[in-house]
Amino acid sequence: MDDVYDTIIIGGGPAGLSSGLYSARAKLNTVVIERESYGGQVVTTVDIDNYPGSVENATGDTLSRRMKSQAEMFGTKFISDEIVDVDFSPEIKSIKGKNKTYKTKTVIIATGANPRPGGFKNEDKLRAKGISYCATCDADFFTDFDVAVVGGGDSAITEAIYLSKFAKHITVIHRRDALRAAKSLQEKAFKNPKISFMWNSQVEEALGEEVLEGLRIKDKNTGETSELKIDGCFVFVGYNPVTELFKGKVDLDQRDYIITDGNMKTNIPGVFAAGDVRQKTLRQIVTAASDGAIAAVEAEAYIENQKL
Ligand code: NAP
Repeated sequence: MDDVYDTIIIGGGPAGLSSGLYSARAKLNTVVIERESYGGQVVTTVDIDNYPGSVENATGDTLSRRMKSQAEMFGTKFISDEIVDVDFSPEIKSIKGKNKTYKTKTVIIATGANPRPGGFKNEDKLRAKGISYCATCDADFFTDFDVAVVGGGDSAITEAIYLSKFAKHITVIHRRDALRAAKSLQEKAFKNPKISFMWNSQVEEALGEEVLEGLRIKDKNTGETSELKIDGCFVFVGYNPVTELFKGKVDLDQRDYIITDGNMKTNIPGVFAAGDVRQKTLRQIVTAASDGAIAAVEAEAYIENQKL
């Protein structure tokens, strides 16, 4: 018979890697299953200066590599597979991957979230032809060009500041007259001579046939539209949780985030969720890592209590 794991962690971002570390240290037979690369969104973040202790040379890539090797050092196994179905109803749960089906006593869902599209005309057509969702990946292509950033949260402002190291000018297009981003980021952006703001503005259409040439933007106060000539457009308007697989399997909220209690328990015994995928207010590396630790400790307690 195939191995029954103590804990299967689905997703290898900070929440999953932290779960792996705590679970393996508790001597649980632990595996992290990830379909892409380890580290999740963090890998595409340049400077991580708000994860405690991580100050110098703290790139997202370095931090996630360290997290992975630390979990590995304590015995966490890593499998590359894409999970296509789950059955949480039996005591021993089934996690069906493209390559094989895995059996486990507990599951920690740490699938994170993906960038949300801006929802304007021609966005798909010009994706990767001037429209991007990752400044770390694409900023270099726009050295000395004019770019736009859509959004007003932490991501938009962090990435606008990063882009200012490359681009000639950055126009932040925001749908309201105030940013949602942390005050410290706002101050940095307002002081940056390369960054300007278009307030109360909504992108309606990306212009261009083969490559992006501009944006049609609507002023929400006056209803008037204008065209902004631009070479690149970076969209940072939030994230959608990766929960398609879990619909009907665990309780989700109205925005499809997994509902947990403070101990990361979902409504299904033995199934936990950690990190950006769950309903919560602060989505940061530090809170993802914290969720992961709690979920692993709770998984251990569940196995002990159920005498599995
Ligand atoms: P967010 O906080 O949800 O902000 C999304 C921004 O996009 C908001 O300004 C929102 O406008 C705007 N927006 C949403 N839908 C839009 C649409 N259809 N068209 C135009 N604008 C739209 O998302 P985020 O900035 O990606 O951050 C996600 C989480 O990660 C947050 O918890 C954040 O704190 C965290 N994060 C932290 C850091 C950091 O600490 N350095 C960096 C990145 C992300 P409104 O303001 O009008 O709602």
